[in-house]
Amino acid sequence: MGLLDKEFTDSNIVVAKFEDLMNWARLSSLWQLGFGLACCAIEMMATSASHYDFDRFGVIPRPSPRQADIIIISGTVTLKMALRIKRLYEQIPDPKYIISMGSCSNCGGPYWEHGYHVLKGVDRVIPVDVYVPGCPPRPEALLEGLLKLQEKIRNERLVKKTA
Ligand code: SF4
Repeated sequence: MGLLDKEFTDSNIVVAKFEDLMNWARLSSLWQLGFGLACCAIEMMATSASHYDFDRFGVIPRPSPRQADIIIISGTVTLKMALRIKRLYEQIPDPKYIISMGSCSNCGGPYWEHGYHVLKGVDRVIPVDVYVPGCPPRPEALLEGLLKLQEKIRNERLVKKTA
């Protein structure tokens, strides 16, 4: 049942579960830690620009992990950067989310076999919520990944049921 299904027609009252309202608010304002690693980051920046306008989904770039809800790992994760990424992830307050954008971040990309310096998937150091395939993924693919993440947040349960 959707959030607005119980709207009364002649007044401004909406009856909804607290959990639905919280999830709706959270999925509609995902502040993003601005952080790009390689060529995929150019597509991520294009997604934030006026043609695709990430802002309309509530995705606002922030310069500090302390003010962020999400990181989009966009680009080649070298072993040198992996520990930095993990540290940034740990500085983000809960609840926090990760989108892995592009083949490099998903599995090592073109470096998966001979790239001795490349991590074969960022999920070896931090948990990933959504993987966006491609080399590089187009902005439309990243938008699709964001919609998948929003769907995941919409169905999250804030309170664990007891037996
Ligand atoms: S997946 Fe392709 S476009 Fe993205 S960072 Fe790797 S090589 Fe560059």
